[in-house]
Amino acid sequence: MTTTDLTPALTSPRALAATRERIALVTEAARRAGSYLAGAAHRPVAPPPEAVAALDVFRRPLQAHRIDPREILAELDAYGSPATMAQAQGRFFGFVNGGVDNAAAAAAVLAGQWDQNAALPAMSPVAAALDEVAAGWVVDLLGLPAGSTATFTPGATLANLTGILAARDALLARAGWDVHERGLFGAPAIRVVVGEEAHVSVLKALRLAGLGAGRVETVPTDATGAVRADAFPRDTDALTLVILQAGNVNTGASDPFAAIIPGVRERGGWVHVDGAFGLWAAASPALRRQVAGVELADSWGTDAHKWLNVPYDSGIAIVRERADLERATAMHAAYVASDDARPLMQLGLQMSQRARGIETWAMLASNGRDGVAALVERTCAHARLFADLLAEAGVEILAPVALNQVLVAFGPAPGAPGDDAVTDAVVAAVQREGTMWAGGSAWKCRRAMRLSVSDQATTSDDVRVSAAALVACWEAARA
Ligand SMILES: *Cc1c(COP(=O)(O)O)cnc(C)c1O
Repeated sequence: MTTTDLTPALTSPRALAATRERIALVTEAARRAGSYLAGAAHRPVAPPPEAVAALDVFRRPLQAHRIDPREILAELDAYGSPATMAQAQGRFFGFVNGGVDNAAAAAAVLAGQWDQNAALPAMSPVAAALDEVAAGWVVDLLGLPAGSTATFTPGATLANLTGILAARDALLARAGWDVHERGLFGAPAIRVVVGEEAHVSVLKALRLAGLGAGRVETVPTDATGAVRADAFPRDTDALTLVILQAGNVNTGASDPFAAIIPGVRERGGWVHVDGAFGLWAAASPALRRQVAGVELADSWGTDAHKWLNVPYDSGIAIVRERADLERATAMHAAYVASDDARPLMQLGLQMSQRARGIETWAMLASNGRDGVAALVERTCAHARLFADLLAEAGVEILAPVALNQVLVAFGPAPGAPGDDAVTDAVVAAVQREGTMWAGGSAWKCRRAMRLSVSDQATTSDDVRVSAAALVACWEAARA
């Protein structure tokens, strides 16, 4: 059916007019999005201060009357577009923000108009089908145990929370405690062991799960930020939850899974892996050894919106045994058909939810196995190039480049050790200068700049131009 096939006999003139208006608006929005993308390639990465100041136009009391949506769209484009971080041109290296793959971007536009609720297959056959296919592909690509259940979440924080809840409920069920009925009051205590470099969002997830962020045991890490296997407790028991990490946010280093996981599981404990970005190393035959043994865990949390370059927001929780996931997340509702194979509202934290799996499906379907591996390998190669160029200029490289993260500090002179004040000055200067964008971080009690090469759009030219801009900002900061 084309857009002109609206059947007048079944549609009131009013509904027809509304549909036509929607079609015109969505087409106009797509046209404006195209102009935005064309312009974003030629502007500073961070928005200029004037564009940020102009956002004040939005800070007005909500008026009583209706405004034509065309005017709203025009205003959004006029004042919103210039105040974006120009993520689309390959020189944004802040946080671990991915760019957007073309197929995923296009799928988001189309599926946005579908407006599907993915809670139940009855609400959207297409959402259910593509979610199932994408989830299966993810488990397979990451080399996780066949039969593991993947479910899309709003991000890695909630993916980790999902894994932690599955772990909590499974450990307590095995100990004969029904946490659903009785809560955690009086429950057997769960021992929680994490690496000292665990991501802050893991601590938040532990807090949300009622396990407390303050009572966790932390295991020391080595110079790269990976848990030291020799310092890992050997006396974990059947009420122990261990959380390991694939991909330290600063260094990309991963914990020694093969040395730790089997013992914890033999003693009855549960291992969850936070692999927000680093788990994707497993999709590359060349880099898989970085996360060797990760498949031995019980559950994993990762993101599609970081390294996989799927639009926000999209994370993935994966649990080895579906029954463990369902124990934590299922709810009883009369309208769930008993023959639903994958009622998503039973496999995650949300009831109504957008059909996140569609964009990941599009990305994977378009790139294929080799394309995903190439994305991971190319961004890692760019990270090494970045580190090489900066090291040649005399910048201190704070940790070996394990994956796509580069951690540096700037000294008072080329070759001199990094200095906190100089590093902070270079971070501020490069964000103003506009060629690229990178953020500050802290590493082993020192200030650092972190460069994350997570965008599929980044080319080696982008890296060269960005490294040159960084070195120029550093020279200016020293002068
Ligand atoms: C980004 C990140 C998270 C949190 O992921 P969100 O998708 O932002 O919720 C957790 N752990 C690590 C290692 C990360 O890099």
